[in-house]
Amino acid sequence: MNIILLGPPGAGKGTQAARLIQDRGMVQLSTGDMLREAQAAGTPLGEKVKDIMARGDLVTDQIVIDLIAEKLEAGAEGGFIFDGFPRTLAQADALGELLAAKGETLDKVIQLKADDEVLVKRVVNRAAEAVAAGGKARADDNAEAMRTRLFNYYRDTGPLIGYYHAKGLLTALDGLGEIDAVAAAVKAALDA
Ligand code: AMP
Repeated sequence: MNIILLGPPGAGKGTQAARLIQDRGMVQLSTGDMLREAQAAGTPLGEKVKDIMARGDLVTDQIVIDLIAEKLEAGAEGGFIFDGFPRTLAQADALGELLAAKGETLDKVIQLKADDEVLVKRVVNRAAEAVAAGGKARADDNAEAMRTRLFNYYRDTGPLIGYYHAKGLLTALDGLGEIDAVAAAVKAALDA
């Protein structure tokens, strides 16, 4: 089963993906993680996207479509979890084509809904916790970049809700409950 976790930044997509990896042996494809890895490795791609990501803007469709196309090659027995991809209608179309070319389908889209103010507080906390734990906060986990990320989410990614609803693939869930409760709701949606 191949699924998308769709939702604004901080809604818990990564947390729920981690549960699905553990419980179902699914493979997570997070374009945000891939781009951060490219930055950490200092590759030309990492350099190219660094400032765009720090601001909270989207990188070009082609960059993330190429990253996903490469990862799809390996296949995944437990299925793929697309996390943070697609984020635009062009990416959604490209994903459909890439899957079809491999004889695969997209089976479900789980939308994690969350309130903006809570999300801003969450990512600002996430940054503070990372620093308190002796690590480094994400460059875009601050109130200003978060406003940009939310704006871009509603403008560019919001249309995907209608797109996947029209395809009969969408289940919307409250993303702000306890992690276990959200995980149970995700499981119910996938098993339905
Ligand atoms: P994320 O970890 O999913 O919050 O992504 C962090 C940042 O990476 C985003 O704010 C964008 O700058 C970039 N990014 C990740 N995925 C995409 C995507 N599918 N399309 C465009 N930009 C992306």
